[in-house]
Order: sequence, then C-alpha cells, then structure tokens
Amino acid sequence: MHVAVFAFPFGCHALALINLVQKLARAAQETQFSFLNTEKSNNSIFSASITSLPDNIKTYNVADGVPQSHVFSGDPIERVELFIKETPKNFKMTLETAVAETGQEISCLIADAFLSFSGSIAECLSIPWIPVWIPVPHSLSTHIYTDMIRQHYANSLGYGCSNSCGDGHDVELEEKTLEIPGLSELHIADLPVEVLPRDAQETPFSCLLGQIGNMVLKADTLVVNSYQELYPEPLLNDLKSKFSNLLNVGFISLSMPPPSLPPSTEDTTGCLSWLDSQKSKTVAYISFGTVVNIPRSEIEELAEALEESRIPFLWSLRENIQDCLPNGFLERTIMHGKVVPWAPQTQVLAHSSTGVFMTHCGANSVYESIANGVPMICRPFFADNKLNARLVADVWRIGERIDGGVFTKTGVARSLDLILQHEQGRRIRSRVQALKELVLKASAPGGHATQAFKTLVEKMTLV
Ligand code: UDP
Repeated sequence: MHVAVFAFPFGCHALALINLVQKLARAAQETQFSFLNTEKSNNSIFSASITSLPDNIKTYNVADGVPQSHVFSGDPIERVELFIKETPKNFKMTLETAVAETGQEISCLIADAFLSFSGSIAECLSIPWIPVWIPVPHSLSTHIYTDMIRQHYANSLGYGCSNSCGDGHDVELEEKTLEIPGLSELHIADLPVEVLPRDAQETPFSCLLGQIGNMVLKADTLVVNSYQELYPEPLLNDLKSKFSNLLNVGFISLSMPPPSLPPSTEDTTGCLSWLDSQKSKTVAYISFGTVVNIPRSEIEELAEALEESRIPFLWSLRENIQDCLPNGFLERTIMHGKVVPWAPQTQVLAHSSTGVFMTHCGANSVYESIANGVPMICRPFFADNKLNARLVADVWRIGERIDGGVFTKTGVARSLDLILQHEQGRRIRSRVQALKELVLKASAPGGHATQAFKTLVEKMTLV
C-alpha cells in the first residue's frame, strides 16, 4: 500500500495533517506514506514541532508557485494565491517522483479538503480519495451551502446597493440566525467573508473555497478534525446524510488524554516553571495564534488592563509586536506577568495554574482549550474566528466574548473578573470541564473517535 497525502501549506493545516499521518503510519506500519507539501511549510513543521517521523513516512516538497526574485507586497494572501495558481501541476509532478522513488503505485489519496483538485487526481488514478476537514465542521457546512447562503441573503444584505454588508453593515440583519440546514445556531455576522454574497470579483482564494463544497460531496469518506459529540444534532444529521462515512476522528493535533508535563529541563521558554510559581487557576494565558496582527491601540488597552488589575498573566506576543507595549510595561509588571515571543501552548493550557485563555479563536486554540478544560475570552479577528467564537460563547457556552467586542481597558478587566471571580465564570468552567470529559470518553477505547479512526485505517488500506 502506498498512500499519498496532499497538504494545504498555510495556517496550521499542514501541521494538523502530518499529525494525523503519523497516527496512521503507526497504525498501518506496512503502508508507505508520501507526504506532499511546500518546502517552506515542511521546514516550519519539521523544525518547530516534529523532530522525527515513523520510517514509513517520506516527505516531498511541491513547488510553491513563487517566481524567482519575486518581491512580496506584504499581503499574506499573495503567497496563498501564487500557490493556488501552481496547483494541481505541482502535486501531479511530485506524485510521479514519489511513485518513481518508492517503486510503488499510489493506492489511496488523503488530502486536505481545501485541495479540491485532489478528488479529480484520485478519480484519474481510480483510487480511493479521502479528504480531511481541518477547521470546525460548522465551517464545512458554510462551504457546502455557499450558493444557498448567497442566494438567500444577497437581496436582504443589499448587494448591489450602497449599504451592502461590504460597507454599510445592516447590524440587525447580520445578527439574524441562519436559515441554512444544520447552521441555525450561527448568525450572518459569523460567516467568513468568502461565503457571503459578493459584489467584488472572485479571487483565486475565494474560488478555491467555492470549489470545496461541490467537490467534497463527491467523497464517500470524509475525515473531520472534531468529535461528533461537539456537533449540534441537526448539523451532525445533515452532514451524515451527505457522506457514507463521516469520520470524526477527534482532535488530530492533540494526544487525548493530553500527555503529562515534561520535566522543567525541557521548559526552554521558562513558561512552565513560571506557571509553577503561580496559584491554581489564577493565570490569564493570552495568545492570538500565528497570523493575527492586533491593532496597536488594542495591545495598549490590554496591557493597561493587565497592569492595573494585577491579574497574573502569561502573554505570547510575537517579538516584532512587542514594541507596541507601553513604555516600561515589562519592568512594571515583572512581579505578576511574563511576556514571551512563543509559548508551549498545549502545555500551558494543561498547567493547573492557567485559569483562562484569552484567544482569537483559531480552531486549534479552541480545541486545545477544550482538551484541557480551560474557559476562554474571545476576541475574534478574521477567517473562521467569528464562527468559532459563536460556538464557544453561545453554543457550547464555555467562554465569553470580550466585553465590547474589542480590547478596552475596562472591558478586559470586566471579562477577566467575570471568568476568574464570579459564579458565571464557575459555571463556564464546569461546562468546559464537562466537554473535556466528553471528548476524553470519545477518545478512549470503544469511544466514537477511536472507532472512526479504526474505520479510516480500514478504508485507507482497502485493496
Ligand atoms: N501556538 C503555540 N504557541 C504560541 C502561539 C501559538 O504553540 O505561542 C500554537 C497553538 O498551540 C496552535 C497554533 O499555534 O496550535 C495556532 O493555531 P490556531 O488555529 O489557533 O490559530 P492560527 O495561527 O491558525 O490563526
């Protein structure tokens, strides 16, 4: 058996996928895996997070589409669009190399569901195609129903008129819940801009997302980076009706149960030993993922609130943004706070001193918080952040949106106080703890996620 795996090399997609492939490679040791990803993304996942791979995984670099001596404009989407233009040619060529090097034809193609073209490649090769959905399942449905969403809301959002969603924002309308199968808990305002009706021309990225919905429905088996226990029933039923095998294999980037903390000798950032010196469930851990750039004014407000409230905090803030902190902030807060350019987030969230996670609601951050039973304060910024914040605050009710929607000194202080000191905070904490127990149970032998993973191994190795 020779399984090819196609990664989407942006955000945390490729890291999640290689984690799944590692689990599969350990479960199917006779199977050879070829992992195809761009060089930049391979370098980043294999230097930062993964130091060794099982012997039956070989990695390949696909062309990223960036012309030699290209000068980037600074817009992060530019790299994505160059890559999209290079597909599927780059993957097809590298696939030939993988076949030639291993001497084995491909028997199954597993691919990030963002790479819709992979379905056609599998069809040409007459082999099974197994797409993997990395973001939350609700967002898959927004792509499956993009046409319906656009038809339904184009008129009411005033597209073509001056007060469209693009500028005017009809706030009342945007706060209406969606009349779309399985998505009634979401509001129009939660939808990523790419699935909304658009006056603007399609971009390569919006086209890529637009193709997901149609193509993914051709798959017989879909792997989802989630637990069926996290779906509302209508969404689960709707997606189950569309795939013969909807395999919710659990959080693919995480070990469940989370491993125990490493000894402090491995604590290169000093975050864990600093947490050791704090009281149980008192620390606010703050991080906004790998992409978001928070406006300077909000960093200042957040910093002032942390300084004044004297709540213990651990803040992962990229080095290039640290100069937005108020003058002297680091010195003045040294007794109750720590700022680092990078934190071992999953271990920080697993630490008993961590009491709350202030997050932008990237899917990985939300999943890591659930896996460790930590309540969240949400300040969503872009992409699926708003949709995830809706799930956290209003559907699972395991966190709160930041008071006022953006960071203000009083809003931050109020939100932290609510989670760390009040009865409402205690209720939120017990709900997230209950959700943690639920996903642990699903990951145990005989649990739904364990069963789904076994089915995936069977489907993947089916001759
Ligand atoms: N992360 C980390 N340390 C940090 C900041 C982020 O380990 O200091 C990891 C975090 O654990 C998560 C990922 O980076 O797995 C961020 O992914 P997410 O989907 O939350 O956000 P994105 O970066 O894609 O917006």
